[in-house]
Amino acid sequence: MISHCGFFYKKNPMYIFKKVTDLKNHLDELRDSIATIAFAPTMGALHNGHMSLVSKCNKIADITVSSIFVNPTQFNDKSDLEKYPRTVETDTIMLIEHGCDVLFFPEVDEIYPHGTEPSTNYDFGQLDKVLEGAHRPGHFVGVAQVVNRLLELVEPNWIVMGQKDYQQTAIIRKLLSLTDSKTKIVVSPTIRETDGLAMSSRNVRLKPDERKEAPTIYASLEAVKQSYKTISVAEAKEQAIKSIEASGSMKIDYLDIIDPNTLISVKDWSDSENLVVCTAVHLGSVRLIDNILIP
Ligand code: AMP
Repeated sequence: MISHCGFFYKKNPMYIFKKVTDLKNHLDELRDSIATIAFAPTMGALHNGHMSLVSKCNKIADITVSSIFVNPTQFNDKSDLEKYPRTVETDTIMLIEHGCDVLFFPEVDEIYPHGTEPSTNYDFGQLDKVLEGAHRPGHFVGVAQVVNRLLELVEPNWIVMGQKDYQQTAIIRKLLSLTDSKTKIVVSPTIRETDGLAMSSRNVRLKPDERKEAPTIYASLEAVKQSYKTISVAEAKEQAIKSIEASGSMKIDYLDIIDPNTLISVKDWSDSENLVVCTAVHLGSVRLIDNILIP
């Protein structure tokens, strides 16, 4: 079986590697010619949100590396893993069209040759106890495990991640500091559909009536931003929760206004200069997350 190959689109080849050794050999050669590397890890089912990360990589580094790996260890819900959309052919074309240089597309054994049990338990303090961490036990252990492994293989100068997964960026920033990594994190803004819904690989699983309801999530976060310092934090949260739950089809896991660094819930607008309002919502069988920065 061919484990790597170069596809040409216009003048740019994109190399696809399935094997760790092939990826490492290729990147080591590039590093010898003093190329800088930016890396955007993904789980595939790519959309324009992912492509914005690729574009950011293209801007800041000589070489853009992306990966597609649906990491089993970060799914606490088995059916979510099974239902996760997989569209590698169209993903590949999108990456080529957006100027990605290297795609790493490994099997589970390549990432976890010694089994999927994490070998290190990182202490993220309260960062992995709140929000997603509280609702998806073990999720960030899996995220840290896979990102650490991918960083070990790609050794990028930058890892580029989306603000869409705000808590994940906080966890990875902490991971980079705990491991004394030379890699720096770059956080890229959330890309949205024209009606405000944050782009997500899971959006394709929304039924037509659910898709119509979904923009309420972003609208409610925006309403919190509009009410900054005009009503209390508690009232702003209550109004947002009510407007999301008004249709009866959405169920909120959490909606909170937090300190951007500690991720701890604030009681007053003045508790921090900058804030993040974030939420996770069940809509039918799909769980969606979103956040915006305040002010
Ligand atoms: P995923 O494939 O969902 O694991 O996401 C891979 C990367 O793409 C993560 O860094 C996400 O935060 C980022 N991402 C996902 N959706 C968006 C979006 N709508 N806008 C910007 N970045 C995104």
